[in-house]
Amino acid sequence: MQRRVQITITGRVQGVGFRPTVYRYASAAKLAGFVKNTPEGVFIEAEGEAAAVAGFVEQLRAQPPVQARVDLFEVAERPPSGGARFEIAQSQSSGDLLIGIPPDLATCADCARDIRDTTNRRHGYAFTNCTCCGPRYTIVRALPYDRAQTSMSGFKMCADCRAEYTFPADRRFDAQPNACAVCGPALRLLNAESEPVPGVGDPLAAAVALLREGHVLALKSLGGYHLCCDATNVAALQRLRARKHRPTKPFAVMFASLAHIRQHGEVSAAEEQELLSPAAPIVIVRKRADSTLPPDISPDTHDVGAFLPYTPLHHLLLAAISPLVMTSGNQSEEPLAMDESEVALLLGSFADYALTHNRPILRRCDDSVLKLAGDRRILIRRARGFVPGAIKLPMNGPPVLAVGGDLKNVFALTRHQQAILSPHIGNLEEFASFTFLKAAVEDLARLLEIKPELVAHDLHPDYAATHFAREFPAHAHIAVQHHHAHVAACMVEHNLRGPVIGLALDGMGYGSDETIWGGEVLLADLRIFHRVAHLAPFRLPGGDEATRNPIRTAWSLLLGELGAEAEGVAADLLPALAEADRATLSKMIARGIRAPVTTSAGRLFDGVAALLGFQHPISFEGEAAIHLQTLAETAPLPPYPFAIEKQREPWIIGFGPTLRGIVQDLRAGKARGEVAGRFHRTVAAALVEVCAALRTRHARQDVVLTGGVMQNDFLLRLLVEGLQARGFKVHSHALVPPNDGGLALGQAAVALAQFLA
Ligand SMILES: [Zn+2]
Ligand SMILES: [Zn+2]
Ligand SMILES: [Zn+2]
Repeated sequence: MQRRVQITITGRVQGVGFRPTVYRYASAAKLAGFVKNTPEGVFIEAEGEAAAVAGFVEQLRAQPPVQARVDLFEVAERPPSGGARFEIAQSQSSGDLLIGIPPDLATCADCARDIRDTTNRRHGYAFTNCTCCGPRYTIVRALPYDRAQTSMSGFKMCADCRAEYTFPADRRFDAQPNACAVCGPALRLLNAESEPVPGVGDPLAAAVALLREGHVLALKSLGGYHLCCDATNVAALQRLRARKHRPTKPFAVMFASLAHIRQHGEVSAAEEQELLSPAAPIVIVRKRADSTLPPDISPDTHDVGAFLPYTPLHHLLLAAISPLVMTSGNQSEEPLAMDESEVALLLGSFADYALTHNRPILRRCDDSVLKLAGDRRILIRRARGFVPGAIKLPMNGPPVLAVGGDLKNVFALTRHQQAILSPHIGNLEEFASFTFLKAAVEDLARLLEIKPELVAHDLHPDYAATHFAREFPAHAHIAVQHHHAHVAACMVEHNLRGPVIGLALDGMGYGSDETIWGGEVLLADLRIFHRVAHLAPFRLPGGDEATRNPIRTAWSLLLGELGAEAEGVAADLLPALAEADRATLSKMIARGIRAPVTTSAGRLFDGVAALLGFQHPISFEGEAAIHLQTLAETAPLPPYPFAIEKQREPWIIGFGPTLRGIVQDLRAGKARGEVAGRFHRTVAAALVEVCAALRTRHARQDVVLTGGVMQNDFLLRLLVEGLQARGFKVHSHALVPPNDGGLALGQAAVALAQFLA
């Protein structure tokens, strides 16, 4: 009996080898019909013997391409109409280009096998890819995504590659970057003067030898250069740290295999899934007690940022030498080096040699970084593997450009109901990053053919991003309060319309009252918010200087709570702060000169970290807070007392009594780990109590957890557990970072909600 079915599949189904897979299954089952890409996803009609059709549907459902993510799989019956063969039909273009560019995908298992197989014609070839894997976003010049529009356009396919590319049943059918050693890109080894190293037959083998000797190499990866060295060579590590002026910030480590990661880190099932995903992010895992990795890789933490090879070049390199430290190929906060002129700047000063190649990178994209709190994902940086994947907005409106914040800048463009976030741009106080922002906005808007009508920016009048936004031509410019944007970003992720209770525990953001906020409880929908509670304000003597040097904040907190007693306590607990410095800071605080008021949770954590011994300036953002979390004992210890003032809204959450408890314990010689653990539990307990009291008043069930402090997975777990125990629905970020890397998504949603109101 003949049967014809129509199958609609949506999700991540394009650029992942879906059509060739469908073709293979259908041809094997001797079916007629076609498969094509549509703006919605993949559309199939298949006809044949009823049993064969049923088998085909089952096979496709059970074994989609490994890199695909199927959201919807709909089968409808159609009257049989005959036909002799199955074909891949011309894609339907509708002017909606959003789904045209998939993110860059890590090398698939089949390609990894090809390059290991001595009998395969791609054995040892560093640019092997197929429709399931390889570069996408970083090599596209314009849409549609065709070879001529990529940085592979300069390479003419050889007959063998062309045959694969044009044969529908081949894994490399329509694989735009398809190449081999005969026709494709090739490796080169450069010396410190950016000259090719003479007499090198095999650049890869030569690079491995140099790494073994302890050299630092610039390595051309997918979205930019890495600086890499042998992770077991302490001298090489120290050299890299000195050159990058990066004394303590943890380095990411690439391992040859999951088994190799497991020798050094505890990997949960959820972490394993992330590591093996096509995005292949850096996953921060707990270091094993018996790990033999040098402490220099991630000093002062229990963790290690681990990831797996994601290009064929990585696979080949790591097969010869593993593990390797792989850190961004840039000068501290500047954009990643991406082309030969930029790598020339790294050579000599940062790297001894460069292992590079002649496939141009057209678009910078850093490695993504994440960690897990149980099964909740915390994205620290959303870039390679995620960008330019769209996030669904709850509303449809005019196209928006949301410029993000000044730190960890990421911008967003929207079209219809989709928001596309840029990769990590960086810290806009760096001129190079600001230049990168301007160029990247122009580039992505052109690529996606989006002409923004609304521009959303932070309320902060002095952000570089705000200045940029105001100069950007548009119908309307909409300022969005920083923490409202954080809360809105999380609401968008979970399709919440609100009002919700938003807990924004953050570094610093400009408040509606022109003070610096950062420990906020907002009752918010996407359009507006009310500040219903916040942390008790304190002063930051020296402003940004206090952010750089947490001991200043510690002193301010002590002085605010203990008054005259603070001197004696500081002499005990803050030995790194000289008496004369205390006097100067006290004056600044008393007179309110260069000592802005803040409610920042991030700075509160910094201050407590200083009391517990972190008394030197930080060398990277969040260092003191990470120190505090690392210290914290996770055993269920009782919280310290705290105080919530509820006379009128906004309520004030006071940690004065907490501070007194901490001081008392430290002076009594209690273990710092215990104190740090109790402090975490105190913050969580106070916020849970605030939420519970707000529920009585405002009848809200949904709590949204956001802000940079939510990168602290211990605190996040405590809040989730505490709030769930009280019956709340608790939402945290999974698609964008809780830090300012997620801000643009919220800005876009708030701007649209206000515009459409
Ligand atoms: Zn592949
Ligand atoms: Zn070829
Ligand atoms: Zn923020």
